[in-house]
Amino acid sequence: MKLSEKIASYKGDRPFFTLEFFPPKTDQGFENLVARIGRLSSLHPLAISITWGAGGSTSERSLDLSGLVQEEYGIETIMHLTCTNMEKGSIDAALKSAKERGITNILALRGDPPRGDESWIPTDVRFQHGVDLVSYIREQPEYADFTIGVAAYPDGHTESDESEEHQIGHLKQKIDAGADYIITQLFYDVDGFLRWEKKVRAKGITVPIIPGIMPIQTYATFMRLTKLCGTRVPGNLMSDLVEIRHDDQKVKDYGVKLAIEMIRRLTTEADISGVHFSTLNLEKSVQRVIDGLGWIERFPSVLKPVNKLIAEVSGT
Ligand code: FAD
Repeated sequence: MKLSEKIASYKGDRPFFTLEFFPPKTDQGFENLVARIGRLSSLHPLAISITWGAGGSTSERSLDLSGLVQEEYGIETIMHLTCTNMEKGSIDAALKSAKERGITNILALRGDPPRGDESWIPTDVRFQHGVDLVSYIREQPEYADFTIGVAAYPDGHTESDESEEHQIGHLKQKIDAGADYIITQLFYDVDGFLRWEKKVRAKGITVPIIPGIMPIQTYATFMRLTKLCGTRVPGNLMSDLVEIRHDDQKVKDYGVKLAIEMIRRLTTEADISGVHFSTLNLEKSVQRVIDGLGWIERFPSVLKPVNKLIAEVSGT
């Protein structure tokens, strides 16, 4: 069954989840991550997604890691692909190479400007927006069996000075061009997400929406990433965090508790059947969130080995 069908017709006894990783820079980091993905795979993610480094900086490693996860662990792998620094030829090469490695799931993105650049300039005028990549993949007969995801921004896109209505209009174009599902940017304002989701549905967008969840790991990372992504941070969350900001363990525990509360609300109040975890390549918080939600108990046979492995790795 194609990933698009699995997502659209998902009827598990708990919501599904997907896990996002980025390709590490060193061989040792790469090896460690592959082992970590292997351990987390026992938690039965619906898919694993591998990012495409800013400006295509990790293209080979993204392809290698995606291929390894797909082939070694047999997990549906979603490879992110961006248009930054890409001409038609390099987009073709990346898609072809993905297909050769058994990957038929692409998260089609415009991409951010390369590090140091302020604005996004297309390298190939044919690829100006995410929608152009979606249309291009859909037009090629050799990628007819590809499942395509696209990004969306419940708190608005950092670059955009357009109204929310207009931005949702651009999202609709990506769906009309043939995208199968949406993964959102991370957010912490659940009420804001619920309002946004209603507007997206009212616009006639019916494909699955998978909210992006990032359990808070440290105060510094949280501040950096929320600034980078233009994330709205509810006042009570900010004041809670400021109080505990010098205690990393307390921040992590808070992040796990918050993610559990957010997912409980989202899975009951929004029209969603799964969530997407931005793992930052870390294992423990996501594992604790999934455990805290009671999603591991549904698979008692994996609970023991996973906990044993985690204990071995963390030395506890
Ligand atoms: P678009 O959909 O093209 O939107 C970009 C901007 O243009 C928005 O402001 C939008 O409103 C506007 N716009 C869109 N269409 C039109 C149009 N037709 N006319 C006028 N304006 C338009 N980046 C990476 O480099 N690598 C990754 O692996 C990566 N993974 C991501 C995963 C997720 C889940 C998310 C949410 C983001 C990810 N990003 C990644 C970041 C993403 O590349 C940036 O946010 C980028 O700036 C926008 O990409 P997009 O595909 O959403 O662009």
